[in-house]
Amino acid sequence: MVKSTEKISRLAQWVRESSKIVAFTGAGISTESGIPDFRSPGGLWEQYDPTDFTYQKFIGDTKSREILWEFFQSAYELFSQAEPNAAHLALAALERKNKLRAVITQNIDSLHHKAGNSLEKIIELHGNMERVVCLDCGRFLDKQQVLTRLLQGETVPDCEDCSGMLKPDAVFFGEPMPLDEMNRAHQSVEACDLCLSIGSSLVVYPAAGFPLMAKKQGGRLVIINREPTSADAHADLVIHDSAGSVMAEVIRLALS
Ligand code: NAD
Ligand code: ZN
Repeated sequence: MVKSTEKISRLAQWVRESSKIVAFTGAGISTESGIPDFRSPGGLWEQYDPTDFTYQKFIGDTKSREILWEFFQSAYELFSQAEPNAAHLALAALERKNKLRAVITQNIDSLHHKAGNSLEKIIELHGNMERVVCLDCGRFLDKQQVLTRLLQGETVPDCEDCSGMLKPDAVFFGEPMPLDEMNRAHQSVEACDLCLSIGSSLVVYPAAGFPLMAKKQGGRLVIINREPTSADAHADLVIHDSAGSVMAEVIRLALS
């Protein structure tokens, strides 16, 4: 078996040769920042089953909304304390070197923004937690306004303008994908020369289709994930290791 160090050298070589890199990131890129993924032991997802968080349940009854807002209060606190790690910073370094076409992310934690990637490079397929939307009048609120109300004891905050139903502006299971972001993601994988899939089990579709699409369009596909993924057999290189240490070393070798 080829050792991780040899694979990292090969990846660094490919990064040197590439100028249209697309990164595809999942929950695994943020675990080294203290935000657990769905599978890691401990943390938030053991108290709540995230697959219960369907759009239908959220709009369906007040009790579900109460549990969901309790979960979001904890998630807001967790996300606001989290700092980007070496893997997020590596993608910001690729942008500074004009090598990055886009970061397509499934994450809702805003760590790519915090790391320094620019708005035009970040494509958030599942929205983010910074905004809250009123499902009735369409008004957007900053999460801080809603968090303040939750901390004051409101269990199911509603819209102060129209008394409508508020929802975090993240994409729930069972909710349609945002069209603009899907189009931007499609455009970015067209003619990308290297796709780095980092920290994703590649099981949540349609998002997980983008790395394979990049490969089909002729780009190299590299998967960096601690565990095997559903797309390993299609990749040009698979590194089963931690995103932060791998990406820090790749950047050191490729950009210095
Ligand atoms: P996932 O939980 O299905 O898979 C994460 C993968 O990352 C796992 O295979 C795991 O082995 C790997 N991993 C964990 N830590 C790693 C590390 N340090 N280095 C390398 N690999 C590591 O997550 P997913 O594929 O993103 O899909 C699940 C859904 O969960 C997504 O829709 C996403 O929106 C949501 N989610 C987001 C966050 C976040 O915003 N940070 C957190 C949890 C879940
Ligand atoms: Zn409203």
